[in-house]
Amino acid sequence: MNKDNLNNEILIEVKNLKKHFKVGKNALLKAVDDVSFSIKKGETLGLVGESGCGKTTCGRTVLGLYSATDGEVLFEGTDIHKLKGKDKKEFTKKAQIIFQDPYASLNPRMTVGDIVSEGMDIHGLYTGKERTEKIYKLLELVGLNKEHASRFPHEFSGGQRQRIGIARALAVEPEFIVCDEPISALDVSIQAQVVNLLIDLQEKLGLTYLFIAHDLSMVKHISDRVGVMYLGNMVELAASGELYDNPLHPYTKALLSAIPVPDPDIEKRKSRIMLEGEVPSPINPKPGCKFVARCKYAKSICNQQRPELREVKKGHFVACHLCEVE
Ligand code: SF4
Repeated sequence: MNKDNLNNEILIEVKNLKKHFKVGKNALLKAVDDVSFSIKKGETLGLVGESGCGKTTCGRTVLGLYSATDGEVLFEGTDIHKLKGKDKKEFTKKAQIIFQDPYASLNPRMTVGDIVSEGMDIHGLYTGKERTEKIYKLLELVGLNKEHASRFPHEFSGGQRQRIGIARALAVEPEFIVCDEPISALDVSIQAQVVNLLIDLQEKLGLTYLFIAHDLSMVKHISDRVGVMYLGNMVELAASGELYDNPLHPYTKALLSAIPVPDPDIEKRKSRIMLEGEVPSPINPKPGCKFVARCKYAKSICNQQRPELREVKKGHFVACHLCEVE
C-alpha cells in the first residue's frame, strides 16, 4: 500500500538490535541477532517469517517489553532502553501493542469498558463523564457500540474481541503500535475486516505500525515496506510491491511461492518452491548463512561467511552472497 502523504521523518530507528536468551549453562539462543531497520511516521513496516524466526521477540524488544542484549532502539531519537521513571512511562503511552490472541489477551473478569480504559487510568488521562464518553468513542471507532461497554469478553466473537484489543491500544492515544500477529488467530473471513480497520485507523489517527505476521498475503495489503526474517536475521527488506514482484532472497522466493492464488487455473500452473532440509537450531548458530542447509543455490562461501544485508538496488536490501548490486 503506497501513501503519497508519507513524509521522511523517522519515528523508530532500530540499530544492530540483539536479543539473546541463555539456554542451560553454555548455550545462547539468538532470537534477534543484529537487526537494523527504521520506520517513518505514518508508515507500516510488515515483518514476516516462519514461527521461531524472531519477529515477535523483535517487536517486543522494540517496545522495551524485553531488554536488549545489544544495539539501540531510537524512538524520536532517544534510546528507549535507556529510559527511566517518568520518561519510560511516557514512552509506554506513545507506543502500544495489539496481541495475537484476542481470547487470551483480555481479562475475562473485566467489563469491556474497564479493559479499554485501563491504560487511560494508568496514565491519568480522563475521569468521570469524560472517561465514559472516551470509552464510548473508542468502541465506535473500532466498529463496536456503547452498549458493549458493560459486557464481558466471552460475549463477543474473535473478530469483536480483537476490536476490543485495538480500542484498548488506542485509548492512550499512541503514535506507534506493534501489531503482533493480530489476525493469525482469526477466521480468514474476519482477517480482512481487521486489516481494513487498522488501515482506516492509521489514516484517521496518523498511526505508525510494525505489523508482524506469517501470512504474507495479508501483509502485502497493509504494509508500505516488508522485512523478511530468518532465524534472527533480516534477510530481505524492500517496498511491499517490489518485494512481492521481485523477491531476491531464496527464502523470500520460497515463502511467496506458497501463497495460494485465488484463480484455480493460475494456481494449477504455479510452481511451489519447496524448502529443503531442516530449520537449523537458533541455539549457538554456526558461522555462515543461516539458510545454507535449505538453500539449493548455496556455494562454499555460504558456509563460511554470514552475508550482510546490503542495498542491491534503491530501497531493496538483501542478505545473500549471490545477489549482485545493480
Ligand atoms: Fe543461499 Fe548462500 Fe544466499 Fe544463503 S548466502 S541464501 S546459502 S545463496
